[in-house]
Amino acid sequence: MGGSEALRFAADRMLGRLARWLRILGHDVAYGPHLGGRTLVSCARREGRVILTRDTRLRRDRELPPHVFLESDHFREQLRQVASAVSLSTGGMLRRCLDCNRVLEDVPREQVAGRVPSYVWDTNEHFLACGDCGRLYWPATHRTHMLRELAALGLAPEAAQ
Ligand SMILES: [Zn+2]
Repeated sequence: MGGSEALRFAADRMLGRLARWLRILGHDVAYGPHLGGRTLVSCARREGRVILTRDTRLRRDRELPPHVFLESDHFREQLRQVASAVSLSTGGMLRRCLDCNRVLEDVPREQVAGRVPSYVWDTNEHFLACGDCGRLYWPATHRTHMLRELAALGLAPEAAQ
């Protein structure tokens, strides 16, 4: 994989689930209800992002920035297609807010007391927070499920090395 920067993406508004999974892997993914058609293309061009879309009308643009046309409606197939089309990184895995795309910050455990269920506080050492929406993350909760899902796609960190 080398030390190169992880690819950044601009995902079409119809690809929310794919966008969240790419964020789980650590990729910077622009996504939102405003991103479709020309706004998607201009965002990708302006910010040097790879376009992810199912909108075949964009094929008419002869100067379309780097892109992947997703063939499937299903996020697993979509993720598989993206993984085979470009080099995905897992280096920043579970370090980005799934809702805001912002890189999470470490939060001292003491600061989380009372803000999460007590069993969560009791069983987790490390907490992360999103500086935009304030959402708290404790990677342990979803980690097992996510790693199993990624392993099934051949994208687990072990498999990526
Ligand atoms: Zn957030």
